[in-house]
Amino acid sequence: ILSNGDNPMTLPLVQQAHAALSQLLAAGDLAIDATVGNGHDTLFLACAVGEGGTVYGFDIQEAALDTAWRRLQDEGLEGRVSLYHAGHEAMAAVLPESVHGRVKAVMFNLGYLPGGDKQRTTAMNTTLAALGQALSLLAPGGAISVLAYTGHPGGREEAEAVKAWARSLASDYYQVGIEIPSSRRGAAPEWVWVRRC
Ligand code: SAM
Repeated sequence: ILSNGDNPMTLPLVQQAHAALSQLLAAGDLAIDATVGNGHDTLFLACAVGEGGTVYGFDIQEAALDTAWRRLQDEGLEGRVSLYHAGHEAMAAVLPESVHGRVKAVMFNLGYLPGGDKQRTTAMNTTLAALGQALSLLAPGGAISVLAYTGHPGGREEAEAVKAWARSLASDYYQVGIEIPSSRRGAAPEWVWVRRC
């Protein structure tokens, strides 16, 4: 298990997650945004998979999906993206069989929709169910990235459960990283990633 969260020179974890996935993703890849929200990560993934790639996105809030779709349209990238108004805990059932075992990156950005209803957060049980499915969808060399915020009700419990899940996977088959910000001030998330070897 790798960690360098105490290094003050490192980038904010959101940027580290994007940088790591940028290195992993290539043109034509398949990727999943498990928590579309306002679409910033979906847009990032749509750029990273190139013209021949596809991004599948999930969110339970229609308003979020509308905002994300407009963001993609503004960049002319909506043709590479399929958005599902569904919980990420349904991803294995919703995605076509042809996608299973071929996904290069799955992003989770947990918590509530910025600017939206703060009561509608991701939840530990559905997050853990979705993480298990995400693992089964990964291609060899593929990775799951989870940004977990701890400041809202249920957030700390969810983040601890995600870290425990990731630690339990560390082996010859999965490389695991956990990054915890050195400063507890502000709303910085923790970052957990799992890479299939
Ligand atoms: N990635 C987003 C972005 O770039 O703007 C931010 C995501 S926001 C922190 C978390 C999102 O997760 C919210 O939009 C919320 O509706 C969504 N969410 C909550 N429970 C969910 C679930 N079971 N499945 C999928 N999305 C869920």
